[in-house]
Amino acid sequence: MNVERTKVAIVGAGPSGLLLGRLLERHGIENVIIENRSREYCESRIRAGILEQVTRDALTEAGVADRLEREGMVHGGIYLNFNGQRHHIPMDELTGGRCVTVYGQSEIVKDLFAAREATGAPIVFEAEDVSLDGIDNDEPVVRYRLGGVEHEVHADYIAGCDGFHGISRDAMPDGYQQLYLREYPFAWLGIMASVAPSTDELIYAQHPNGFALHSMRSASVSRLYIQVDPNDDIANWSDARIWEQLHIRMATDGWTLHEGPVTEKSILPMRSFVATPMRYRSLFLAGDAAHIVPPAGAKGLNLAAADVIVLAHALADRYSSGSETGLDEYSDRCLRRIWRAQHFSWWMTQMLHTNPSEDAYGQQLQRSQLEYVCSSTAAAKSLAENYVGLAIEQAVSA
Ligand SMILES: Cc1cc2nc3c(=O)[nH]c(=O)nc-3n(C[C@H](O)[C@H](O)[C@H](O)COP(=O)(O)OP(=O)(O)OC[C@H]3O[C@@H](n4cnc5c(N)ncnc54)[C@H](O)[C@@H]3O)c2cc1C
Repeated sequence: MNVERTKVAIVGAGPSGLLLGRLLERHGIENVIIENRSREYCESRIRAGILEQVTRDALTEAGVADRLEREGMVHGGIYLNFNGQRHHIPMDELTGGRCVTVYGQSEIVKDLFAAREATGAPIVFEAEDVSLDGIDNDEPVVRYRLGGVEHEVHADYIAGCDGFHGISRDAMPDGYQQLYLREYPFAWLGIMASVAPSTDELIYAQHPNGFALHSMRSASVSRLYIQVDPNDDIANWSDARIWEQLHIRMATDGWTLHEGPVTEKSILPMRSFVATPMRYRSLFLAGDAAHIVPPAGAKGLNLAAADVIVLAHALADRYSSGSETGLDEYSDRCLRRIWRAQHFSWWMTQMLHTNPSEDAYGQQLQRSQLEYVCSSTAAAKSLAENYVGLAIEQAVSA
């Protein structure tokens, strides 16, 4: 048995666990990250790619934004496409100059791993049978097995950053949390393609065949999505069939979608989920461990970052002044921002997707909403303000 002691044990090396570990390091708070997958697996997981200013600022504060500064693509707007027409929403003009940055989640994870490697802060990969104990008597411990040897990490606090399918949420007592769940009758089929983006900013398209999105990861890599049935099988979708639907759903006069080799494709189910409160005694949940949003609002990664910014500051306060106020307020502070993002993500989802069970009346409401957003400055401003992301204090103050 190998036993060690730290201040904060972090379960999971996704964006939330890695960023929390890095921010704590900057505050001089020792921490250990325990991850059940390999580093290579974590680095190659293709997921989000739109960063709010708050997320970008946190990565800068964490000292891991050099490559992001060089390679990230700043976008001041998005396009909405419906009825064969393309409309521009100038988010920067509508929000006093605020923008988003396109930079892949896998690149953020690589940057955070490299920074941790450089400092030598402890991180365990491929930990088996990870479990939590001692939460009830405030002597928290994370147990795992590595190479046949049992390990225990004793800590003051545990941060459950282990995603939607992790073990931390279930370590809270039965019935302690209230769970909110909404499932949607559609999923996204996403592809990565080795072709320069056919657009300067993201295109969100609503079409009777279903939603489509043209995003990107770099000047030579496009990320594209189409709405599919959640029970559909990726085997049913040849590359040619996917491109055909992308052409149809995003069509507008005078614009051409360029095709390229598809390097990755998968189907992403869609749900909204929140588990409250996000703290039980010495156990704190952050990121997807506590909440999931459908990706139309580009909020998942940004919410994960916002949680750990709040948590890192609360822990820094606890260790520097002894005050537990920040820790006590952690869940409520995060949840105000989370529910705002939940609403925005749900709203974007229902405005842009084709619901197979929607009646003709509902379809007219959807069209009216799209037309309103594209013709009213007030409506566009609301979309823009939420899309670029609210400042943390703006969302948390009553
Ligand atoms: C396929 C996919 C596509 C997505 N696309 C988008 C998008 O386009 N836009 C957007 O905004 N959001 C998107 N998201 C959401 C976004 O990626 C997440 O919100 C973000 O990854 C949350 O980060 P996290 O660190 O909280 O959780 P995760 O990234 O899930 O990280 C959790 C980590 O914990 C580890 N772990 C799990 N269980 C254990 C255990 N028992 N012990 C130890 N470690 C464990 C996991 O291996 C993982 O490394 C997508 C999500 C998925 C799944």
